Amino acid sequence: MIYSDETSADELEAIHEQRRGVDLEMAAMAAVGDRMAELKHAGVCPHGSAQGFREDLGDPELRPGQLRCTDTCRRIFNSDDDWYAAMDAALRD
Ligand SMILES: [Zn+2]
Repeated sequence: MIYSDETSADELEAIHEQRRGVDLEMAAMAAVGDRMAELKHAGVCPHGSAQGFREDLGDPELRPGQLRCTDTCRRIFNSDDDWYAAMDAALRD
């Protein structure tokens, strides 16, 4: 969209800037995916996915607020924050 005080060059610059942002975001996500694959290949669980407590899942070890890693290790985390911290630590180490 071009406003009356803008030129088509402004519009083009905005489009390019937005594409650069998306490219950077995609590159960052691809790097995380590559790192997770690297960890799994090395036998380390990156805790890339988890399932929260739900009564109908019938997981007797899981309590409300807790999550179980569904990636590889099946570890139980006490909160979303614990899960995110473990995922960050796995990606960082
Ligand atoms: Zn895990």
